[in-house]
Amino acid sequence: MFRKILIANRGEIACRVIATAKRLGVATVAVYSEADAGARHTRLADEAWPIGPAPARESYLSIPTIVEVARRAGAEAIHPGYGFLSENAGFAEACAAAGIVFIGPPVAAIRAMGSKAESKALMERSGVPLVPGYHGVAQDLATLTSAAQRIGYPVLIKASAGGGGKGMRVVDRPDDFLDALEGAQREALASFGDDRVLIEKYLTRPRHIEIQVFADTQGNTVSLFERDCSIQRRHQKVLEEAPAPGMDPARRQAMGGAAVAAARAVGYVGAGTVEFIAEGDAFYFMEMNTRLQVEHPVTEMVTGLDLVEWQLRVAAGERLPVPPEHLAIRGHAIEARIYAEDPARDFLPSTGRLAHLRQPRQVPGQVRVDTGVRAGDAITPHYDPMIAKLIVWGEDRPTAVRRLAAALTEYEVVGVETNLGLLRAIATHPAFRSADLDTGFIARHGESLLPAVASPNSTDDLVVLAAAALAAVREQDMAIQAAARATGDPWSPWAAVDAWRMNGDGYQDLHFRRGDGVDITLRTHPLPDGAFRLDLPGGPVTASLVEDADGLLLAIDGVSRRLTVTRRGTELAVIIGGRNHALVQVDPLAPPRVEAAGGDRVTAPIPARVTRILVAPGDSVRKNAPLLVIEAMKMELTLRAPMDGIIAQVIHAVGEMVEEGSELVTFVTINAAG
Ligand code: ADP
Ligand code: ADP
Ligand code: MG
Repeated sequence: MFRKILIANRGEIACRVIATAKRLGVATVAVYSEADAGARHTRLADEAWPIGPAPARESYLSIPTIVEVARRAGAEAIHPGYGFLSENAGFAEACAAAGIVFIGPPVAAIRAMGSKAESKALMERSGVPLVPGYHGVAQDLATLTSAAQRIGYPVLIKASAGGGGKGMRVVDRPDDFLDALEGAQREALASFGDDRVLIEKYLTRPRHIEIQVFADTQGNTVSLFERDCSIQRRHQKVLEEAPAPGMDPARRQAMGGAAVAAARAVGYVGAGTVEFIAEGDAFYFMEMNTRLQVEHPVTEMVTGLDLVEWQLRVAAGERLPVPPEHLAIRGHAIEARIYAEDPARDFLPSTGRLAHLRQPRQVPGQVRVDTGVRAGDAITPHYDPMIAKLIVWGEDRPTAVRRLAAALTEYEVVGVETNLGLLRAIATHPAFRSADLDTGFIARHGESLLPAVASPNSTDDLVVLAAAALAAVREQDMAIQAAARATGDPWSPWAAVDAWRMNGDGYQDLHFRRGDGVDITLRTHPLPDGAFRLDLPGGPVTASLVEDADGLLLAIDGVSRRLTVTRRGTELAVIIGGRNHALVQVDPLAPPRVEAAGGDRVTAPIPARVTRILVAPGDSVRKNAPLLVIEAMKMELTLRAPMDGIIAQVIHAVGEMVEEGSELVTFVTINAAG
C-alpha cells in the first residue's frame, strides 16, 4: 500500500478519498486554488498545497503544477477524484513520466473510452448493444442530416468528447436540425476543444441504468451490480439508487456481463462505470466513465464495500479484495445530490456564502452525508455547485425512500438557493414511491414538484410569524443583557429597559414583510412566566421560544415544534422541516427603499464569465433577441433583449468575469420629452 497520496481534486470527493486514506493509514496531500484556501478538504488532509488561482484551468486542471506538487510532497500516487483531470489521458501519462502512480485505469483504456463515438465503435465490435445511431468519422452536414433522417426523429446530438451534458441537443423535427447541430458543435468546441458529434435515436421514456465494474492488474474483472440514475434534470443525475427497481437476476446478469465485456475489451483496471440506457426489455451502451462515479456511495451502501479502498489496493497492485462469489446486494440505497441551484429558474446555479448550514445527523449504515463544505463556506461560480450528497439505506426500497424523505427535512441551508424543495417533493411523490422511474420524471411532473406557495393562513404561516416575532424579541433581550453586563452595572438604564416588559400592560409591535410582499404587524405582550401573548392575524395565542441543546423549541398554545431561525441583517429565515420561510423585519421609521431600476436592464443573474458577444454598439435589436452568452459553473446562459432598441454599449469583453447584478449591455435611451 502507498505511504502517501495526493488528491487532485476539491470538495466532497477530495474529503471522501481522504477519509478512506486515513482509515488505511495512508498520508494525504490536498491541493487547493485561491478560492479554496481553508476549505474543508484542506483541513482534513495531512498537508495542503496551493496550486494557483480560482479558475480550474489555472489550478485543478494544471497538470505540470499538480505533478510538481506531488513530487515535492513525496506522494507516491495521485487520486484524481471525478471531473477535472480524472479522465484526462495526458494527466495519467504525466504521472507515469514522473514516476507517480495514477489511481485509475491505464492510459490506453482512458483514451479508448474518452470519445463516445470511438468507444461505441469498439463496443459494437465486442457485441455490446448500441442505441440506433451514427458515430462515424465523417462530420459533413450532408452525412449528419441524412443520418438523422435515417435514424428517425426525435434524435439526440451528442458531443463525441462530451461529458456533463455539454454539447447535447434533442432535435424533434428536421427543421430544427441545423440550429441544434451548430449549437452542439459550438458548445463542444468551447468545452472540449473538439466539435465532433454523434447522433442517436432519442428514446422518449428510457431509464438510465449503469453498472459499476472493477478490475485488478491480475486479470480479474467483476460487476458490482447496477445503479438506477433515471431521476435527472437537463440530462444530469439528481437521485440515484441501487439496486434498480424491477431488475431481475437474469437481466442483472446480462447487463453485468455486457459491462464486464466492455471493460475487458479495453484492458480496464480499477473502478469504472458502464452507462446503459434502457427501454422496455432492451438496454443499450451509452458510454463508459473511466473513474469513480459521483454516485458510487449507493453501491457502497448495498454491498458493504469501500470503493476508494478498492481503488487504492488495485492501484498498489493488489488483487480485488473480495472474490466475486462473495459479492451480494443487501437492502436498498438512494443518493440525493443537494445542489446550490434554483429549480424554479430552470436550475440556474446559485452562488453565495452558506450563512447557515445544518446537515442531517449521520447514522452508520443508514444515513450518510458526503460534503465538502461547512457553514460559512462559499459556493463560488468557479466550480460545480453541489453542496453535498445525502445517501440513505433501508432494508427495502420503501424504507429507504422514507428515510430519504425524513433526512431531507433535517437539511437547513440559508445563503443560496437549493434544490431541497424539489428533492423532498420527489421523495414524497407517489410516482417515485411506486418506482415509476424514467429520465423524463422531473420534466413530466414539473408542476407538482415545484414547492407549493404556502397559503397565507396556513398553520405554517402562523408558526413562522410567531417564531420570527419571538426570535426578534429574544435577540433584543440578549442584546440588552449583554449591554448590561458590559457596563457592569445591574442598575444601568440598559438593564432597566427590560423591566417595563415585566409589566403586563407593556407591549411591542414588530413589523415583518412576508415573502409574498404582504406586510404584517405583530403585537407581542410579555407574560410573567416568560411566555408572550401574540396578536396574530388569526387571533391571539400564547407562545414561548426556548433554546436547548437540540436548538429552538417554539410552543404555541401548548403545542411545541422544533425549528431554526437565522438572521442576516433584516432578513430572517424560519426553517421548519427543512423548508425556509423568508421574512424581512421592517423598521417602520426607515425611509422607503428605492427599488432597483426595472426590467429594461441586462444584468448578469449570477457571477459568470462572458463567453460570446452577439451584438455591437449601434445594432438595432428586437425584444428577446440573443445579446450575449455567459457561462457559470457547468451552464451556458443566453441573455436576451428586454425590449426593442438600439445597443449603446457592450460593457464587457469575451473572457471577462462579471459579478452578479452587473450591467452587461446598455440601450440608447430615446428621450420621449424631446
Ligand atoms: P454525459 O456525458 O453527459 O453523461 P450521456 O451520454 O451519459 O452523457 O447521457 C446523459 C443522459 O442523457 C443520460 O443519462 C440520459 O438521460 C440521456 N440520454 C443519453 N442518450 C440518450 C438517448 N439516446 N435517448 C434518450 N436519452 C438519452
Ligand atoms: P456523473 O455521471 O458521475 O455525474 P459527469 O460527467 O456528469 O458524471 O460529471 C462528473 C461529476 O464531476 C459531475 O457530477 C460534477 O459533480 C463533477 N464535475 C464536472 N465538472 C466539474 C468541474 N468543472 N468542477 C468540479 N466538479 C466537476
Ligand atoms: Mg453519462
